[in-house]
Amino acid sequence: MKTFVYSIHGFDKPFIEKEAKGKQELFYTEQHLNSETAHLAKGCEAVALFTSDNASCEVLEKLYANGVRFIALRSVGHEHVDIPKANELGMKVANVPTYSPYAIAEYAVAMILILNRKFLKGQELNRKNNFLLDTLVGFDLYGKTIGIVGTGKIGTAFAKILYGFGCKLIGYDIKENGQLIHDTHIQYVPLNELCEKSDIVSINCPLTIETKYMFNKSIFSKMKKGSILINTARGGIVNTIDLLEALDNGTIAAAGLDVYEYEKPIFFCDHEGNTINDELFQNLRSRSNVLLTGHQAFLTAEALEGIASTTIANLNEWEKLGSCSNELK
Ligand code: NAD
Repeated sequence: MKTFVYSIHGFDKPFIEKEAKGKQELFYTEQHLNSETAHLAKGCEAVALFTSDNASCEVLEKLYANGVRFIALRSVGHEHVDIPKANELGMKVANVPTYSPYAIAEYAVAMILILNRKFLKGQELNRKNNFLLDTLVGFDLYGKTIGIVGTGKIGTAFAKILYGFGCKLIGYDIKENGQLIHDTHIQYVPLNELCEKSDIVSINCPLTIETKYMFNKSIFSKMKKGSILINTARGGIVNTIDLLEALDNGTIAAAGLDVYEYEKPIFFCDHEGNTINDELFQNLRSRSNVLLTGHQAFLTAEALEGIASTTIANLNEWEKLGSCSNELK
């Protein structure tokens, strides 16, 4: 099956090429999918998309008109695809439901340690030959309360690491994970209570209509004064303006953000030499208590192998059977 791969990067192409060899015929572009680039897929039955692509209603109609019938997502998240519209058009969409959750969970833990132990400030002083420790006091994670919002695959991997650190775990999810309760003694509580009690809150749920701006002015006002917020899930779950206010008033002492509400035109591109005209982004980036990274939590060799192998397996299944086990409805 001929597949047009949008938003290919130097980091994922070798994994995809290796996996597709002798199985699938792929054509690549570094360009993102949008209404101007949808025509590039003409002649291909399938497209393979990344999180930076836009498969809105209008774009799907263009893909369909160009003969595309299958959409293989190289991600867990699928909020960038209008799935009801794809289904209405008779196009099949599949994601990669699982690939190394450890990649993201370990990254979230790294963010906590960098912020809590003041690595950023310490390095800044170190480069100035200043080895005074007065501004670098952190706190032990042992015995602290960690709130986990979304205890699916990534939330579970994250919980188990912090259980090993000797933390007390509390969780909020629309469904409880019985095995995780057994393994880590996590206690499920309402979101407000989780925010009131947690020293650190980690967001690990998907972006949906229900979770859009779940972290807003009202929920920030419930958070423990001086807590740390980690978001490796999706930028739209946090209202950035409200977060900046919570950082200003000291409710949030530090934030680790691998995702950002308006990341699409910024992340996964080289803007060296150009100004990024986004005041909120610049404001976040200017703060020594904010660690803002470019959606890289997934970026391990194991995760990239997993993404490539499931993406190609999804295309193989469609080609051989016409349906695939990871289809989204
Ligand atoms: P998952 O489906 O295994 O777990 C998600 C959990 O969130 C589930 O337990 C689900 O019940 C829960 N949930 C759903 N709606 C909720 C709500 N309204 N309130 C509370 N909990 C809710 O998914 P996962 O593999 O653990 O991934 C979680 C998210 O992480 C993905 O949706 C994706 O957006 C993000 N992610 C980010 C990166 C990155 O590189 N930064 C990489 C992979 C995934």
